[in-house]
Amino acid sequence: MLAARSILVTGGSRGIGLAVARALAAGPRRELALVLAARDGETLAAAKLEVERVGAGHGPLRVCCVEMDVADAASVATGMQAAAEFCGPLDALVLSAGVAESAPLHKTSDELLERTLAVNLWGVFRPLRAALPEMVARGFGRIVAVASIASLTGASYVAAYTASKHAVLGLVRAAAVEYGGKGITVNAVCPGYVDTDMTRRSLGRIAAKTGLSAEQALDRILARVPQRRLVKPEEVAAAVAFLLDEGAASVNGAALPLDGGELAG
Ligand code: NAP
Repeated sequence: MLAARSILVTGGSRGIGLAVARALAAGPRRELALVLAARDGETLAAAKLEVERVGAGHGPLRVCCVEMDVADAASVATGMQAAAEFCGPLDALVLSAGVAESAPLHKTSDELLERTLAVNLWGVFRPLRAALPEMVARGFGRIVAVASIASLTGASYVAAYTASKHAVLGLVRAAAVEYGGKGITVNAVCPGYVDTDMTRRSLGRIAAKTGLSAEQALDRILARVPQRRLVKPEEVAAAVAFLLDEGAASVNGAALPLDGGELAG
């Protein structure tokens, strides 16, 4: 049974975040208020309808959309306020908003590193910092950051992304230690390549740079994955749902790889 009744999902309009919202709405739960946050209002509105549709018949469900740029401090402050007005104090955060660009390290500009950190690190840090005081006051909270296999290992051409995702895992671990005695758990899921727009864009970039077909580019990124397939967004969502389940109360500070065995090799 889902331990939380009010949950904010950043990046909730598409990809992994939307899959998480769908899984939470349709899974075992009590009354649930879900806040979907992202920048594009139209995509958010479509996601809201989709989540309401899959959640129908699974218990009382309210879904709201918040247009929020997680890289922008003022936007996060306004967005967190809007979330609190909708559902009161948040029980849980799923921090999935993220971006990935690639470049050789020696061609990685200050701007590329800064905009990657702005979304992938600051975009986790600010909502987390904003939600913690109420969680501490109520002695309950669940936080899940959608980190990456790039939080645990290095890879070529994604230095900015890798730095941002290592930083997120550091933040998760620090928060898990600092708030573990206050009824709050903080964990990370660490997927390999997932079948979403982000991966489709990466494959397009590899194909454009190398002259490979999209299929060959896919074979290349799967060469080190024992399962030889992309992770499904629903599989990441299932792991996030587990971390938000009552049964996961003792899981704190974990970094759960969802990589088809890539890191085991
Ligand atoms: P996606 O399909 O590109 O979706 C990204 C989501 O984040 C969208 O909802 C997008 O909505 C939102 N977003 C992007 N920038 C934002 C910003 N500045 N402020 C607020 N929302 C923003 O990506 P995904 O594959 O679902 O990735 C989700 C997370 O999983 C990311 O943190 C990513 O690093 C991580 N991850 C992905 C993979 C993969 O292979 N796909 C693997 C490991 C980890 P808007 O554009 O409308 O804002």
